[in-house]
Parts: sequence; structure tokens; C-alpha cells
Amino acid sequence: MENFVANVDRIFKEIEGFDVEVVAATKTRTIEEIRCVIDNTPIKVAGENRVQELIAKYDQDLTWDFIGQLQTNKVKYVIDKVRLIHSVDRLELLQTIDKEAKKHGLIKDILIEVNTAKEESKGGLFLEDVMSFADTVKGFEGVRLAGIMAVAPLYYEAGELEKCFKGAYGAYEELKKYHVSVKCLSMGMSNDYPIAVRCGANLVRIGRGIFGERH
Ligand SMILES: *Cc1c(COP(=O)(O)O)cnc(C)c1O
Repeated sequence: MENFVANVDRIFKEIEGFDVEVVAATKTRTIEEIRCVIDNTPIKVAGENRVQELIAKYDQDLTWDFIGQLQTNKVKYVIDKVRLIHSVDRLELLQTIDKEAKKHGLIKDILIEVNTAKEESKGGLFLEDVMSFADTVKGFEGVRLAGIMAVAPLYYEAGELEKCFKGAYGAYEELKKYHVSVKCLSMGMSNDYPIAVRCGANLVRIGRGIFGERH
């Protein structure tokens, strides 16, 4: 636990002066580890990647985000458990979230995931497709567009990362002009959050930087 607290202290020092929410990325971590971070640090939200893990660890006293790729047939398991779905990148997923949200009488906050480096292996919309997708989101009453999420390539160097993050920031600023509900730019992980924050991120998702290397 001392380690978690010291790690989180270091992260907050690194982003001091910036208005940023830190979400703990909790894949492979136990609920005890997660609770330890939430109870002893300023971090108040857990971000899960996998539906199975979310269900297994779910504790309604904690606030959860869904940050991983989401299959449409799994939306029903997470819809009433998460504050925010970070990873919406296709119409079919949007339609399913809308349908499930309405069943529960909810309006679900979502982020549009962007693929700033056009990596083929990754989900996310290309930047040029974000505006029209955002207009589509407006047509769904069970969904509210809260912003943009980006995952930069793992092995990029600082200059390339900056280019990715600035691209996402540009899309975020553009989106804000037309959609009043947009307020969140989710980008930055353990390796790259200092750069992401300096490029305008106001939410970072950090796993190894808090919990240590994965076991
Ligand atoms: C795992 C993960 C993170 C955190 O990654 P770390 O390198 O452990 O900080 C953030 N976002 C997403 C979508 C992830 O899958």
C-alpha cells in the first residue's frame, strides 16, 4: 500500500498545476488493490478494460469507467455499472448503448475513441471522421457525448506522441464548439501521461504507474 500511495503522489506532482482527473486502470488488479488506491489516494475512479473482470470485481460503492474495447453483446452487463464508456468507435456499439441505456432509464456518457496514428491493429475513428460521428451521437437520446479518448502507440518517441495527442486535442476543441456536453479529453497512460497532459488531456488512465508492473 505504501508503494501505491508513493506512486500516486509522484503522478500528482508530475501533473501539478494542470486540471486533470486520474483514473486508475485496473486490469489484472484485485479488488483489494483497487480499494486500497481509492481509499488512500485522491484517485476516485477505477477504469476497467474487460467486461468479465468488471463483473467479477464490481463494487457499487466505487465509481467505474469502461476503458477497453466493448463488444455489443456485452453492453448489457456494463450499462448500469459504469459512469463513462471511453471507447465508442462504431455505429453498432452506439446503437446498442442507446438501447440498453433506455431500458434502464439512463443517459449514458460516452467518449468517441480516436485512432490518431491510424494503427490497423487498433480500434478508434480516424480524426477526419469524428465530427460526422459526433452528429450521429446527437440523434440518440440514451447517449450523451462527453468527449474524446485516445490511445497513442506504445513505442512512439516523444515528438510522435505529441503529434498524436495534439491531433486528438484539436478534434476535442472542434467538437466542443458544436456539442455543449463535451468536456472530457481522455488520453495518457503510464508511459506518456506527462506529454498527454501538456497537450491538453484532462483525464489520464494509469495502471502500471500506480500498481507497479503487471503480475
Ligand atoms: C491498460 C490501459 C491503460 C493503462 O496502461 P498502463 O500502461 O498500465 O498505465 C490505459 N488505458 C487503456 C485503454 C488500457 O487498456
